[in-house]
Amino acid sequence: FDIRDHQLTSKERDFENALRPLNFEDFSGQDKVVDNLRIFVKAARLRGEALDHVLLHGPPGLGKTTLSNIIANELRVGFKVTSGPVLDKPGDLAGVLTSLEPNDVLFIDEIHRLSPVVEEYLYSAMEDYRIDIMIDKGPSARSIQIDLSPFTLVGATTRSGLLTAPLRARFGINLHLEYYDDDILSNIIRRSASILDVPCSVPAASEIASRSRGTPRIANALLRRVRDFAQVKGSGSIDTEIAQYALEALNIDKYGLDEIDNKILCTIIDKFNGGPVGLTTIATALGEDAGTIEEVYEPFLIKEGFMKRTPRGREVTELAYKHLGRSLYNSQKT
Ligand code: ADP
Repeated sequence: FDIRDHQLTSKERDFENALRPLNFEDFSGQDKVVDNLRIFVKAARLRGEALDHVLLHGPPGLGKTTLSNIIANELRVGFKVTSGPVLDKPGDLAGVLTSLEPNDVLFIDEIHRLSPVVEEYLYSAMEDYRIDIMIDKGPSARSIQIDLSPFTLVGATTRSGLLTAPLRARFGINLHLEYYDDDILSNIIRRSASILDVPCSVPAASEIASRSRGTPRIANALLRRVRDFAQVKGSGSIDTEIAQYALEALNIDKYGLDEIDNKILCTIIDKFNGGPVGLTTIATALGEDAGTIEEVYEPFLIKEGFMKRTPRGREVTELAYKHLGRSLYNSQKT
């Protein structure tokens, strides 16, 4: 049961879409990001222009897709969705771009996974709203220029470190999403429960929130599972008792840590005496990519106080030892 798995089934996707806030008002948290976006959107609307291109970065499930959809809604323009791996050839990109109406929003998820050729084409599209497409091969090869309507590209990435400098430079607005606090997650859970028409008490929502790894996607997915327990084992409504029962049965970590989080902490404790140890050394020991650890996993572990960044490397804290049931003393002796 890996609730963080990014590959959603179509049923899970439908579920997510049903719970997606459609305007700034319904989007909780990320106050700074939202406040800024409200101003930029309002200014673009006043001028009747396309909004500057927006780059949203941050770990999975924090609301990047949701926000881009909201941006389009608030701008009162059309919205098209695609992703880096889907845009395989320049022709694919040209197809999407030429289908846009003036000032529309084009959302490219996982923009760090664009192929270099496609990325190259995107540059002139973003800058001058035109693309030069090569047609034919050999001596008769020539390029034709296609003019595009002004549009806003919203790019999302979990790995902003992988973005090339020229691509990054073409985004006028660059925003980072942070993990959510439990009280905001708790509000999100209660909003979702009311959309799903399942009564959910405030303490039960906090209980689910505290195990959601700071992530709305996980909060909603847990709510969905807890709802099953409430309907089958309980009265249909979610109270603390049924929430706790369900979360235990699902083996959800008390702090919301997932398997990889725990593996990172265990590796630092078992193989490196708790640290300090360099990021690349940890990555090698785990067989994970160092950038993914740094951008996707580590920020949450640091925020929750399980791990520290020191000048000499990463170090786990006492809380990590306690959480994993390890003794600080034994570990330092062996
Ligand atoms: P990302 O694109 O960053 O991976 P999504 O935008 O797909 O994340 O969000 C995942 C789920 O979490 C969606 O169902 C969305 O409704 C919900 N969600 C994300 N952020 C918020 C928020 N701030 N308020 C309410 N729901 C949210």
